Amino acid sequence: MQKCYLGIDIGSISTKGVIIDSDDNIIAEKYIWTEADPINAVKRLIHDLKKQVEGKDIKVKAVGTTGSARKLIGTILNAQIVKNEITAHAIGTLSIYPEVRTIFEIGGQDSKIILVQDGIVVDYAMNTLCAAGTGSFLSSQAKRLGVKVEEFGKLALKSKNPTKIAARCTVFAESDLVHKAQIGHKKEDIIAGLCRAVVTNYLNNVGKGKAIKAPIVFQGGVSKNVGVIRAFEEETEEKIYVDKYGHLMGALGVAKLAKNSGKEQNFDFDIAEMNFETRGVECGKCANNCEIICIYKNNNLIDAWGNKCDNGAVV
Ligand code: SF4
Repeated sequence: MQKCYLGIDIGSISTKGVIIDSDDNIIAEKYIWTEADPINAVKRLIHDLKKQVEGKDIKVKAVGTTGSARKLIGTILNAQIVKNEITAHAIGTLSIYPEVRTIFEIGGQDSKIILVQDGIVVDYAMNTLCAAGTGSFLSSQAKRLGVKVEEFGKLALKSKNPTKIAARCTVFAESDLVHKAQIGHKKEDIIAGLCRAVVTNYLNNVGKGKAIKAPIVFQGGVSKNVGVIRAFEEETEEKIYVDKYGHLMGALGVAKLAKNSGKEQNFDFDIAEMNFETRGVECGKCANNCEIICIYKNNNLIDAWGNKCDNGAVV
């Protein structure tokens, strides 16, 4: 029997999971849409991972969670470790690129930059407010142009003369794009211009004032877009590394952290069949009126949080 470790990264748009063996090899992986329901997304994810390892003589001995719903899912899965995205992404990336100095990450709805020195995170920044530099912006523009988002990058590479698109915010970019299409710019030039706009927006906002040093690794869903990779290479004048597991780095990192946590407990894949529910209640014991989130497993309260003081603790 081989010991293995499960890492799950639950974001607002996508949920990612990996199982690694004790040598950090990925033996199962899955990427699905969260669809605004993290509990069900994780159940579906675990169901799929279970199928991938069926028949193998393995035992998952520790679980780690990261991403925006990490606490909720960590409680449900009885995780050994719950970590923020910055640490998880850095650990995952360092396991593949030990020399990395800068990590660019652009996901569906947010983006971040992580600066690393000698294997340690020394600085970072996140952008969760402006959609102009994210995957959802690119998807909506692809739709507007009648192009499949998977084709977007390849079309951008055909462009010899990228159109200049004003990308300070989504609204500006959208109206500028319509205008550029109407005055006759080629589709591939507009698309290349959009890729460049995403990169410029990212470097001017998330990367503002940051000492960007090579090697640079680019990850997150948008790293699958070759047009954006090329735009990053042109802007930074550096090679941009993109790994085939780039979309799974957070899950990989937190799986490694679970492995190294020193805590072990057999993980039960049947958790995917259990009934979990969240209920929000207002404390009401003082003017703060904290909203307390209660988590139930098969109708039994297993955890609660949101209270600012012990008077509001739910037990
Ligand atoms: S948890 Fe504490 S601070 Fe919050 S409403 Fe209840 S009593 Fe007030």
